[in-house]
Amino acid sequence: MTAPRAAPDLEPVIGLEVHVQLATRSKLFCACRNEYGAAPNAHVCPVCTGQPGVLPVLNEQALSLGLSAALALGCEVPASTKFDRKNYFYPDLPKGYQISQYDRPLGLGGAVELAGDGGATRRVGVARVHLEEDAGKTLHPPGENYSLVDLNRAGVPLLEIVSAPDLRSPEEAHRYLVALKRTLRYARVSECDMEKGSLRCDANVSLRARGSSALNARVEIKNLNSFRNVERALAHDIARQTTLLAAGEAVLQETRMWREEEECTAPLRSKEEEHDYRYFPEPDLPEFAIPPELVERLRAGLPEMPAARLERYIGRLGLPAETAAALAADWEVADYYERCLAAGGVPARAVASFVLGAVLQEANARHVSVSGVNIPPASLAEVARLVEAGALSHQAARKVLAEIAASGQSAAQAVASLGLEQVSDRAQLAVAVDAALAAAPVAVAQYRAGKQNALNALVGAVMKATRGKADPKLARQLLLERLGA
Ligand SMILES: [Zn+2]
Repeated sequence: MTAPRAAPDLEPVIGLEVHVQLATRSKLFCACRNEYGAAPNAHVCPVCTGQPGVLPVLNEQALSLGLSAALALGCEVPASTKFDRKNYFYPDLPKGYQISQYDRPLGLGGAVELAGDGGATRRVGVARVHLEEDAGKTLHPPGENYSLVDLNRAGVPLLEIVSAPDLRSPEEAHRYLVALKRTLRYARVSECDMEKGSLRCDANVSLRARGSSALNARVEIKNLNSFRNVERALAHDIARQTTLLAAGEAVLQETRMWREEEECTAPLRSKEEEHDYRYFPEPDLPEFAIPPELVERLRAGLPEMPAARLERYIGRLGLPAETAAALAADWEVADYYERCLAAGGVPARAVASFVLGAVLQEANARHVSVSGVNIPPASLAEVARLVEAGALSHQAARKVLAEIAASGQSAAQAVASLGLEQVSDRAQLAVAVDAALAAAPVAVAQYRAGKQNALNALVGAVMKATRGKADPKLARQLLLERLGA
């Protein structure tokens, strides 16, 4: 798709609000399970259904995951934090307000680094990170005159990550989302699975004269269910706003929704102002200090982040930049790779090509993540060792890995059951060697005349005759014995 661009004298100013569901066992303020895909209203209680007289109790795991995310994004964590009520009516928000954080969020002033051209990085600010509860879901059965409410999601912990208005193109917004998701997944705070709604994104965009700081009205776009749609919706609305401004018309400050089928944005409502929500401190959850020991423990517990891994893969393991980036793109892939290396005695590059090839193909074919692929890292390392030793061809190795995944066999069992074991029995190999010598009198004469290369052709003939299963070292040795004797 060719993205419509702003007129040369206008530049887009884009900010993204991302909500991720935290991977906690229970909800934010009650003990109900935080589980996707359960039967409607299977996980509800008086707290998350907003019954009178109940009190919220903060989930410690949600606080820890939220702080870990803030730290992973390089935010300042304030000394204390508090919750506030954001008042609005929604059929799937039974209390009539959402418990969120207004003026004391968990984190302020972080950043997401985007890899730019030629190794340069671009820093996109993260204005704030705060905790809040999710709402339920309203379902509209087709053809019926009623709606249904499922409150399983009501009270699930959400982390809202608000970017600074630093993004300048739809393509850059897309790259920001990829980098943000990668960091949050590395920090193990969320699955960030857009299909399951555990990552959601709203975008806002306005145009301004290039070089000016005066903004035109800001448009917020909702209903963006994929990174690609974020990019498309922004491109579309930039074009729409450009046309309006070029015609001397005003852009309305409003909330619009992306209509995927029609590939356009359409008005949803005029934008609420903050005062419309009548924020006030949540009286049932007083402000509390964030223990510095907790922050330090969480900071120390953060795993190695993608940028550090990338650097190590290139610098210490000597991987090509593209290979290193592909491995570091997801922590599960990177961890799997390192478990293969930990099996010992395997070259980093060879293992990388198997992980990015056979293992990812298997994961994609079965629609699972790498951890769901039935190839134990030790088995992959074993296969890589066999290839490295010349005992298996690359082609045979791919068959062996597929067999391991399908049958759960060990590497040795899979090699045997596919009949791919190397022929290293002298007597057996001698037959093939004699046949090769008899079939190639010219090569034999050339070798005897001092042409060393002719020996390679003879080894090749033995390998071909054994369909690649001969031990090439032994074949060479037998040929030399016959020729030299
Ligand atoms: Zn509950």
